[in-house]
Amino acid sequence: MFGNLFKKDEVKEETPNQWIKCPKCTSLMYYKEVEAKQHVCPKCNHHFRISAQKRIESIVDEGSFVEMDDNLAPIDPLKFSDKKSYKKRIEEAKEKTGKTSSVMSGSCTIGGNPVEIAVFDFSFMGGSLGSVEGEKIVRGISRAIEKNCGFIIVSASGGARMQESTYSLLQMSKTSAALNRLHQKGLPFISILTDPTMGGVSASFAMLGDIIMAEPDALIGFAGQRVIKQTVGVDLPEGFQRSEFLLEHGLIDMIVNRDDMHQTLSDLFKLFKKETKKIETVYEPESIVENEEDTVSK
Ligand SMILES: [Zn+2]
Repeated sequence: MFGNLFKKDEVKEETPNQWIKCPKCTSLMYYKEVEAKQHVCPKCNHHFRISAQKRIESIVDEGSFVEMDDNLAPIDPLKFSDKKSYKKRIEEAKEKTGKTSSVMSGSCTIGGNPVEIAVFDFSFMGGSLGSVEGEKIVRGISRAIEKNCGFIIVSASGGARMQESTYSLLQMSKTSAALNRLHQKGLPFISILTDPTMGGVSASFAMLGDIIMAEPDALIGFAGQRVIKQTVGVDLPEGFQRSEFLLEHGLIDMIVNRDDMHQTLSDLFKLFKKETKKIETVYEPESIVENEEDTVSK
């Protein structure tokens, strides 16, 4: 459905002594060389897909991440089966990745600022959004509200998990409603879109960021190019679902290289902190009441 969405792009972490080929510029490079550059091609800046662990390491302050809700695992309420049963697919994904969910979430600091974070891992069932992933995101938002801090989601997903049907679609509204609670508290939500961010994920929380940033050349959209072409019956512009095109047309706020992500986030949270303080001073309710009394007594 999404064309080359499932292309083999992730750097194989279990074969660190091998040579790898960049899928974009076809250069042959030593794994260690690419790893040292945070899995970015030194020749053409192609951003390889990386695991949730690697992503967290590259974004948060060193040693600050504490994983939460890692005991949550999906059940199979619909007893769903296509070519394989959902239960079997979960087992296989668990064996392949050592995880029970496509989201890794927890508490951390970025530039010394406390932040709650949820990161998608495309290697677990295509980073699909199911009930566990939705619940982890909502719990992360609740912790952010409790701690009065910001929230980040790094998306890498093919969309809602079809094996959970309505249960997975429900996560779109559940997460959006929770983000509205965060918004009402005046706390920032930063959405980071990585390759690929598609389907129900792009149609819900991924596009609700106060700031939406993307990695270079990431595939971002709802349906795949072929499906849209068949539906609307027109030729689509070249690269219309890539970060650069979306930035040019105002759908995202900035494109940030993986190497600059930590610093950019640190700067933004510093800025948000200053803004929050400023607002508190101007609109302090007590001072308004005092002023009213002053006016009355005069
Ligand atoms: Zn390259």
